[in-house]
Amino acid sequence: MTDIKDKYAEICQILARTAKESSLAIKPIHLLAASKQQSPLAIRQAYNAGIRHFGENRVQEAQEKWPELKAEWAHATLHLIGPLQTNKVKEAVALFDVIQTLDREKLAESLAKEMDKQKKQVPLFIQVNTGAEPQKAGVLPEAVDAFIARCRDYYKLPVIGLMCIPPAEDEPAPHFALLHEIAKRNKLDDLSMGMSEDFDIAARMGATYVRLGRILFGERA
Ligand SMILES: *Cc1c(COP(=O)(O)O)cnc(C)c1O
Repeated sequence: MTDIKDKYAEICQILARTAKESSLAIKPIHLLAASKQQSPLAIRQAYNAGIRHFGENRVQEAQEKWPELKAEWAHATLHLIGPLQTNKVKEAVALFDVIQTLDREKLAESLAKEMDKQKKQVPLFIQVNTGAEPQKAGVLPEAVDAFIARCRDYYKLPVIGLMCIPPAEDEPAPHFALLHEIAKRNKLDDLSMGMSEDFDIAARMGATYVRLGRILFGERA
């Protein structure tokens, strides 16, 4: 079994070194534990090791695991990092502190209505399909400037950053560079990019959130 505490310390060391060496890593880098398929026990170990940001992929799985943990932990921040269907928006707005997967107009409209209704502003990341993969969620790079403007100006949504999942077979660096460039020209502060295999590259390229699953918890079943 992976010792989360040791892993966490190791990753913090790598990120601290990167922050010192890299000109782009000027903002604090948050480590987000991707806790899909992990038991409440494993999540508790991560929290006890010092992790305060968590990401879940499915609304329903999060609803089963998180209400109890959130009631206990005032300072844990729960992010939705998987696709969001419009019929789950109500539950997602109620449960999550951050939603990282805004990627289409219908969802923007639905989120705006629901946040208004619940009087709860949930900070949002727009997911960008940097590799233009047909099967993958995310706004295409050529459409993203207009989509960001639409979300901000028309729907008045609290968009704070961008998120991407590069194609598995590609070098990740060009995708991270593209995301960084889009964020910069749109004056967005946060970048959620980098996973177990490539988080240090992402950190060097301006990530403010790295999303780590296997490197913390071990291989998923
Ligand atoms: C599972 C997942 C991660 C973490 O992936 P690992 O390779 O296990 O680090 C990051 N981001 C998203 C969106 C995920 O679904």
